[in-house]
Amino acid sequence: MSTAIRPRPGILEIELYQGGKASIAGREDVVKLSSNENPFGPGDLARAAYARAGHDLHRYPGGDHAELRAAIAGRFGLQAQRIICGAGSDEIISFLCQAYAGPGDEVLYSQHGFLMYRISALVAGATPVVAPEQDRTTDIEAILAACTKRTKLVFIANPNNPTGTMVPLSELERLADGLPNQALLVLDGAYAEYVDGYDGGAAMVDARQNVVMTRTFSKLFGLGGLRVGWGYGPQHVIDVLNRVRGPFNLSTTQQEVALAALGDDAHLSRSLSENARMRSWLTEKLNALGVATDVSHANFVLARFANAPQAEACNAALLADGLIVRQVASYGLPEALRITVGDEAACRRVLHVITGFIEAQR
Ligand SMILES: *Cc1c(COP(=O)(O)O)cnc(C)c1O
Repeated sequence: MSTAIRPRPGILEIELYQGGKASIAGREDVVKLSSNENPFGPGDLARAAYARAGHDLHRYPGGDHAELRAAIAGRFGLQAQRIICGAGSDEIISFLCQAYAGPGDEVLYSQHGFLMYRISALVAGATPVVAPEQDRTTDIEAILAACTKRTKLVFIANPNNPTGTMVPLSELERLADGLPNQALLVLDGAYAEYVDGYDGGAAMVDARQNVVMTRTFSKLFGLGGLRVGWGYGPQHVIDVLNRVRGPFNLSTTQQEVALAALGDDAHLSRSLSENARMRSWLTEKLNALGVATDVSHANFVLARFANAPQAEACNAALLADGLIVRQVASYGLPEALRITVGDEAACRRVLHVITGFIEAQR
């Protein structure tokens, strides 16, 4: 064994990211509600584009993603030259950390923030710093108080995962105004499409030099397995990230399928309206059982139980019935379960099991 061969400091502090479980041994009728995926899958246009893309697999992909960026810009009213595409928004988060944070620098995020912020910060050799939240909601004051002269990046998911809560744009503006000069604010908009009238922070990006927005095709667009996300920022930031980005980071298939998904209005509007309908239904029914939730602005509900053992027991009851939800102890919420809003049948199954569980406890 060689003890001389060692990774850079910080790498061994990374706990491996555990994705949502996808199967239960010996069961066929499993419903996966652990990764906030669109229960309707990809739309018809994306499926057709995927089938077509197979014919050109011998060709290298276009390296500038021009067509996809133009379509994103068109759909969301943005400037195409200030968009960068990546293998999921995870890759954009990683580019940001690699480009802006290194040894001695701090990467700041909130208490129940997305685990990839910590992982990407450690990969870059930077120091992750956590600011407390107030009642599972981002606390702008606490984030500002945690800033130092070493803070390089501040990540805020809005709405946040796994809490589903969000803060108003006025609060984000206050944060951007109050940050130290060397810090870049990253607004992670993985769930922005689920919020009616919310631009994910795009207008803030346009108005400032210190704000970047990240978005994804993994949630509403139903393409988590494809791995496509994007970022929107001031030109100086996008120019930097493009130097870090590998020229062929997105395959032709990724680009073409994402492009098709972007224009599938029928699929998107059905996905949105069903999510809103079943999210209210599930929230109401859980609350009536005495299971507390915050108001969710995304495609999942965080169900809070009396304590961690009760959450664990409920999780076991759901698993026994073929329902996989997400335990969120690694996000500092051991008393809660994050349940993706599935289709109506899935939501009814979830409620049926939780009802039985709660009644048996009485
Ligand atoms: C799901 C999610 C993402 C998206 O990750 P991808 O790499 O685009 O699949 C980003 N941020 C948060 C907070 C998420 O929940």
